[in-house]
Amino acid sequence: MRLSGRGMLVTGGGGGLGRAMAEGFAREGAAVAVTDVNLDAARAVARGVEERGGRALALLMDVTSEEQVERGVADAARSLGRLDVAVSNAGVQHIAPITEFALSDWRRVLSIHLDGGFLLTRAAMRHWQAAGKGGLLLYMGSVHSVEASPLKSAYVAAKHGLLGLARAAAKEGAKIGVRTNVICPGFVRTPLVDKQIPEQAKTLGISEEEVVKRVMLGGTVDGEFTTLEDIAQLAIDLAAFPSAALTGQLMVASHGWHMH
Ligand code: NAD
Repeated sequence: MRLSGRGMLVTGGGGGLGRAMAEGFAREGAAVAVTDVNLDAARAVARGVEERGGRALALLMDVTSEEQVERGVADAARSLGRLDVAVSNAGVQHIAPITEFALSDWRRVLSIHLDGGFLLTRAAMRHWQAAGKGGLLLYMGSVHSVEASPLKSAYVAAKHGLLGLARAAAKEGAKIGVRTNVICPGFVRTPLVDKQIPEQAKTLGISEEEVVKRVMLGGTVDGEFTTLEDIAQLAIDLAAFPSAALTGQLMVASHGWHMH
């Protein structure tokens, strides 16, 4: 057990990668606050962790709500007894060419990724400053933090932006013992990805199979998807890393799609 006695908070923990990280942290002995805009989904994940003998609680947290993020961080720290790691994971995708991209969709994508990342960063840093102890912020970036793809302008801009936020927080946080790192996965089969396969096929005028083979996995060295378990393992490794030698960094886990 590499994370025994630690307190963790994950946003967007009700599904996909957030769920995999929350369950991975719990398997390694951490107590986990599973937060999501979908409280039922967060509750189901927390219940599953507890049924397997782990410690978890579910909290409602829309990452675009200043009030819910601040209350969620405070409630998590109080209920878990401590907060060591906060993971900014909640995210959405929107597929459209720039010429047809509605401003409302652009704002929604940027708000969930960037406002959400900022609000969690500020709330966690304020908590750690007041508690007189440091902590770790992990951000769910993407290969799209360092590469662009067509039809994803808002997502690519948001994921590049998260790198800037993580680097700024690493510099400001150092004096209070706060570290930050960004996890950048390639494509992982989650609802976020499954939804965009038919959307991309329609917009690009190719088959769904071609979207998977060419668009999603064409840049990898072996044509393989990254898995939920790969990303959970990387999050555990970063959470367990003992020093500030690793701060302000990005880790690309993508079967070689973009070698950083
Ligand atoms: P997902 O759709 O499976 O899960 C996203 C979760 O976020 C859901 O539980 C959803 O309810 C929650 N959520 C949505 N809006 C929210 C909000 N406003 N506040 C709080 N929670 C909210 O998606 P996923 O694939 O697990 O994606 C998780 C993160 O990983 C995202 O930031 C995504 O950009 C990133 N990512 C995913 C992939 C991939 O291939 N799946 C690759 C790279 C990065």
